[in-house]
Amino acid sequence: MADSIVPGAKIDKIAKIMRLKQKRAGFIGGDNPWIYPSSTSRKGVYVINNISSMPLKDDAISQIAYTISAIKEEMNEPANESYAEVDPGKCAFCYTCWRVCPHAAMSPDYETEEPVMKNLNEACFACGICVSVCPAGAITIKGGLEDKLKEEDSLSNSLKILCCENSARIALQKLKDKHSNDFDKIDISAVSSGGKIKVAEIIFLLRQYKKELVAVWMDDACKHFDGNKRAYRQVARACELLKAAGLDPNRVQYVKLSHAMTRVMADTISEIL
Ligand code: SF4
Ligand code: SF4
Repeated sequence: MADSIVPGAKIDKIAKIMRLKQKRAGFIGGDNPWIYPSSTSRKGVYVINNISSMPLKDDAISQIAYTISAIKEEMNEPANESYAEVDPGKCAFCYTCWRVCPHAAMSPDYETEEPVMKNLNEACFACGICVSVCPAGAITIKGGLEDKLKEEDSLSNSLKILCCENSARIALQKLKDKHSNDFDKIDISAVSSGGKIKVAEIIFLLRQYKKELVAVWMDDACKHFDGNKRAYRQVARACELLKAAGLDPNRVQYVKLSHAMTRVMADTISEIL
């Protein structure tokens, strides 16, 4: 906490050590010396300031109290779930990630036999910039969606079916009436139109289900005109995302059928399972 932050050698030194951004006048965080409450570009590093040319007044004290309570609140937030992780076996110690990280979350580690870069988890925003520039492919984002989706083996062999209420839902009900035992590990959600199915939902559900099937009306039968086509585009996008993440794109599948096509539905389900 600095009760008087004015440009000068001391501030320059702090800025250099903390790798904080200085503006033209030399202030940390901006040209304006009033920084209430102020966080710097580095996560968890704050500057609390009062006007240097004025004595500390009651309102300034209350503002500082407010700032401290805001910081306390932020400190009580749970630790980062996602962060970049450097594989020391691959790191070429080229400093590229250190240079590009907007949050100064990479730090050289000289404790190891060969120096390598390490991630300061608490400061990392898991933005992935370092991943995209690392020439050695040494950085991965841990604890993110990809990691969670990779826990596929821990999922039960379950299937989620997102279906159109006017077509696939009816076909599924007919099947379920006849073979209810086979539906133990199948969870069904109906939507009024395939157009309501979104890629984010498809991906999110994969944290819980091993496979997903999107089942909608056949072309030209959809009363929402192109709801089935919109659903298809979302499935295709979800598959692309899975592929890009190095995961099995076949975890999400798509079928078009009418309410009468129970055979097609049964075959599709048994193929997926
Ligand atoms: S960019 Fe990659 S190789 Fe270079 S220091 Fe960072 S982790 Fe190591
Ligand atoms: S993921 Fe983003 S915040 Fe974290 S170390 Fe890489 S560049 Fe910095």
